[in-house]
Amino acid sequence: MQQRTVVLGTHNQKKRLEMQRLLIPVGIQLLTLDDFPDAIEVVEDGDSFAANATLKATQQAVHLKQWVIGEDSGLAVDALQGAPGIYSARFSGEEATDESNNAFLLEKLSGVPHQKRTAHYVCHMTLSDPAGQVLADSEDRCNGVILEQPRGTGGFGYDPLFEIPEYHRTFGEMGITVKSALSHRARASRKFVADLIRLIRDDQWPID
Ligand code: IMP
Repeated sequence: MQQRTVVLGTHNQKKRLEMQRLLIPVGIQLLTLDDFPDAIEVVEDGDSFAANATLKATQQAVHLKQWVIGEDSGLAVDALQGAPGIYSARFSGEEATDESNNAFLLEKLSGVPHQKRTAHYVCHMTLSDPAGQVLADSEDRCNGVILEQPRGTGGFGYDPLFEIPEYHRTFGEMGITVKSALSHRARASRKFVADLIRLIRDDQWPID
């Protein structure tokens, strides 16, 4: 039986694992840019998560002639006036790694007391059809606090520093199952999943 496929516009396999789990109710096969050697590198020069998610979805969709989900996400820290925001991936420079970004964040927040270290993650997801038309999108956030020291090795990015106060645990200390219930990506996926199921039910998403 033929199955619908959708391409997640990323090379980040940790994001793929999280999205794959969140999209289970839709019943589609999720591919990533690693499955398409001729994928383009989309220039993320939008001024918001929404703009960048839309660029990643529509440009790649037209190029690959595939249905594509663009997902743009990041961390906004109140004491840093919302930084790193859309620049989260390269906060500590062009050659940034998760470790260098976390170290840079701790340096920037050094001396900031615990109660002023509030932050939130944001996630925006956009679905484009192969013609570059946006057929669904959703955005949500997840509140937390940036700790003084990393805890846990799960997740990715800033997760070892991002504590959910109600749980007294960082995303780095939670398994993927718990993160998949609480995260910005999980929250944004609720409306998105419902929209995708509706598109399929209404025959707006044909199997090629
Ligand atoms: P993007 O791939 O351009 O959307 O950049 C996302 C960046 O935001 C990542 O490289 C991380 O630094 C950060 N980020 C987004 N989502 C998460 C998450 O779930 N955990 C930790 N860091 C995240």
